[in-house]
Formats: sequence, C-alpha cells, structure tokens
Amino acid sequence: MVSLLLHPIDTFTFLLAAWMQAPWPLALLAAVGVHLSMYLVGGSIAWTFNQHFWPSLGVGRNLDPNPPRPGQVRMEIRHGMVACLILAVMTLSYRSLSDGIWPRSVWTAAWQLAAFVFYNAVYSYGTHRLLHTRWLIRAHGVHHRSVRVTPFTSYSVHPLEGLVIACTIPSFMLIVPLGVGSAFLLHGFGLAYTAYIHSNYDLLPQLPEGHWFKRLIDHPIHHRFHHTLGNVNFGFTGRWLDRLFGTHKL
Ligand SMILES: [Zn+2]
Ligand SMILES: [Zn+2]
Repeated sequence: MVSLLLHPIDTFTFLLAAWMQAPWPLALLAAVGVHLSMYLVGGSIAWTFNQHFWPSLGVGRNLDPNPPRPGQVRMEIRHGMVACLILAVMTLSYRSLSDGIWPRSVWTAAWQLAAFVFYNAVYSYGTHRLLHTRWLIRAHGVHHRSVRVTPFTSYSVHPLEGLVIACTIPSFMLIVPLGVGSAFLLHGFGLAYTAYIHSNYDLLPQLPEGHWFKRLIDHPIHHRFHHTLGNVNFGFTGRWLDRLFGTHKL
C-alpha cells in the first residue's frame, strides 16, 4: 500500500482496476464524484487564477474585461452539474468497451492517440455544425447564453448536447478499443481543455497574433469568437476544419 502511494501511475492503475470490477452503482457514484470535483474545483481554481492571481502578477489579460452578467455563473453551474452526471453515466460504457487498462506498447499508444486526435476533431466539428442547424440550435442555445465566457461555461450545455459530448470517446472505442486508462486520460484532458478554452484569458497578450507560440495557446481567443460572433470557429482543438470549410476567424 505504501508503494502504491509513492507511485502515482501504480495508484491510478490500482484505482482503475477496482473501478472496473466494482458494482455499477458504486462505479457510477465514483464517476459522478470525480466529474463534479473536476468541474467545480477545477473551474474555481481557473476562475481564481484568471480573476486574481494572474492579474496580481501582471501576467496576461481578460479577453472581455466585463464581469459575467448577474446570475450567469449560477446558471452555468446548474447546467454544468447536469452535464457532469451525463458524462459520468457514459463513462460506465468504458467498462465494456475497453481493451485492458493500458496500451500494449508505446507504438500502440502513439497511433491510438493520433487516431483519436483526428477523430475528435472531425466528431466535435461535425456535431457542433449540426448543433447550429435550425433543428438543434434551441438546445445549443443554452451554451450560447454565455457570451462573456467563464471556465464554468465549458459544460453549461443542454442535456442533449451533454449526451453528444459524452459519446465522443465511447463512439471512438467502438472503432478503436482503448485501454480504460487511456480513455480516462483523454477524458480528463478533455474536461480541463474545455475549461481552458472558455477561460476568457490571454496569457501572453504581448506576443503578436500569428506568433508560433501564441498559436499554441490562443485557443481561448479562438473559441471566444464563436461565442461573440456565432457561426465561426466551430473547431475546439484545431482549426484545419474551420479553414477547410471557410468558417475560420481570428
Ligand atoms: Zn456553438
Ligand atoms: Zn463554448
């Protein structure tokens, strides 16, 4: 037990193995707890950094200096908590779709990661375009109620959109079975990254637009245009599909 505590990867593997074998109500309870903790604690940390810590150090700037409108954050958290429940329920599918806990080799991990990055870009861009059609825009409108975004906007979505997001990894696993450890790492990264692109913060405003490093970290600027302008910048992780279909704006 002491060695488990000293080795984070071993501990994570141990917890995943226990989660895979746990009765489903217990596994669901754990998944709900992890999602709510990541959303609420992670969002609060990001909020504190962007509102207080970075400005006190003179680092970066808020993209929209206005505060969120009254009641906005409470509304976002309410929707976000429902989305967390949906995400948690869908993680139970990893128990039957997964292929062990970790990939068999570094090469397997590398091609699975590359395949997922491509799949995720196409899936998220395609479903986001669908959400902007006249049949689904009412549901997607919940997310667009936030024009001045906050880290809590990340999962402030209609339950239908929550389900679409929650199906990203399970639908990929129907094509490429992942180890449950890989699935959860990608899932956790997705939660953190989605909060980041809604952070309303430019960490390096002194760097000119188009600078190679700025292009790596300017996704909050990129996604903010989607919230302020609407039918541009549908991609989350990359811009190539926006460029390909003429919806890119920066
Ligand atoms: Zn949208
Ligand atoms: Zn958004």
